Amino acid sequence: MIKVNENYNKLNDSYLFFKIAEKVAEYQKQYPDYDIIKLGIGDVTRALPKACIKAFHQGVDDMADDATFHGYGPSQGYDFLRDKIAVEDFQKNGIDISGDEIFVSDGSKCDTGNFQELFADDITIAIPDPVYPVYLDTNVMAGRTGEFKDGRYQGIVYMDSTKENNFIPEKPDKPVDLIYMCFPNNPTGTTISKSELGQWVEYARETKALILYDAAYEAFVRDENIPRSIFEIKGAKEVAVEFRSFSKTAGFTGTRCAYTIIPKQCMVFDRQNNQISVHSLWNRRQSTKFNGVSYPVQKAAEAVFSTEGRAQAKELISYYLGNAEIIRRAMIHLGFDCVGGEHSPYVWVDGKGRDSWAFFDLLLSKAQVVCTPGSGFGRCGEGYIRISAFNSREKVEQAISRIREALK
Ligand code: PLP
Repeated sequence: MIKVNENYNKLNDSYLFFKIAEKVAEYQKQYPDYDIIKLGIGDVTRALPKACIKAFHQGVDDMADDATFHGYGPSQGYDFLRDKIAVEDFQKNGIDISGDEIFVSDGSKCDTGNFQELFADDITIAIPDPVYPVYLDTNVMAGRTGEFKDGRYQGIVYMDSTKENNFIPEKPDKPVDLIYMCFPNNPTGTTISKSELGQWVEYARETKALILYDAAYEAFVRDENIPRSIFEIKGAKEVAVEFRSFSKTAGFTGTRCAYTIIPKQCMVFDRQNNQISVHSLWNRRQSTKFNGVSYPVQKAAEAVFSTEGRAQAKELISYYLGNAEIIRRAMIHLGFDCVGGEHSPYVWVDGKGRDSWAFFDLLLSKAQVVCTPGSGFGRCGEGYIRISAFNSREKVEQAISRIREALK
C-alpha cells in the first residue's frame, strides 16, 4: 500500500499566502465592487527592464534558427551568465568568486528549499523567528523536526529577532550545524552591519557550522557600509553559501532566474570528520535533479548587467524604495513603530498591542488594503504586520490615504 510522507502532517496550517488569498477572495466575494489594494505578497508589479526584454526577444529568435538553436543547457547555467555574475557582482567589488562557483537556477525559493537535502537527517538547524517560511517548512517535510507545539516546531533552534535585539537574530543557545540567515530581511526589512555579520562568520568557523545566507533583496541596499554579500566578510567562503535572485533585483518573479554562490573552499563533514565539498555535492544534486534555466531567460538575465540594464533595474528598485518610504513615513506619522523600508521593500509595523490577524482584518475591512500578518512568519512576528512596497505609486498612495482614514 502506498504510504504518505507523514512529515507533511506536521506542517503548520496552510501556506501563509494561501490563507491570505483565501481570506481576500472571501471578502471580495462579499463585496464584489470594492477595489482591494494588495500590499501583501512580495511580488513585483512593474515590467521587466527594456534591456532584458530586448535580450529575451533575441534569445527567442536564436531558438528559431538551426544555427543558433539551444537544446538542453548546462544544469549549472550557461557560462556567459555565470561569468558575468562573478565579474559584475563579486570581482568588481573585490570579492574573489569565479564563474564556476555560481549555480544558475529558476529561483531562490527552490534553492533555499532544496539545499537542506545535502545534509544529514540528524543535524541541528538554527532558524530566525520571524522567517521566510520556506527554510522551515522544507526541513519539516524532510523530517528534521518534531511536532508543531505552541507556535514552534520541536527540534528547531529558533533565533529570536525582536525589537530588543534590533531584529538581528540572537546566537543559538546550544550548538547548531546549519544556520539560515536573510538580509535585507524578509519579513522585517532590517539589515545587518558588517561587524555583526563578521561575528556570525566567526561563530560558524569556530563551531564548524554552515551559514545559508539569503541575499534575495541585496539590490535594495543603498548604503555601501551595509553588506550586500556575506562574502564581503573575510573567512566567509569556508562557511557560507549565498542565494541571490533576479526576482526582486530586476522584476523576474514571473520570468524565473536566480543563482546560488558556493565557494569551492566551503566544506561540510562526513561521520569520520572527512571534509566534503559543498560545491561538489550541490553540483551532483543539480546535475541529477535539474536541467537548467531556459536559454532566452538566461539571455534576459545577462542583460541586467549591461549598462542600460543596470540603470533600468536600478530605477525599478528606486521606485519601490520610494513606495517603501511613503509607507514607512505614513505609518510612523500614525504613531506606529516601524523598521525596514529603507534598504528593503518591506516595512515591519508594530501593531501597538493588536494581534497580527486582527490588524490584517482591520486593514482589509476598513481600508480594503491587504498586508501580511507578522505571526505568519513565526511567533516573534505576533503583533506585527508586514507592508510590501511592491505596487504602483498610485496604489500605494491610495492605500496610505485609506489606512489614514481607517485608523483615524
Ligand atoms: N528568498 C526570500 C527571502 C524571498 O522573500 C523570496 C521571495 O519572496 C525568495 C527567496 C524567492 O525568490 P525567487 O523568486 O528567486 O524564487
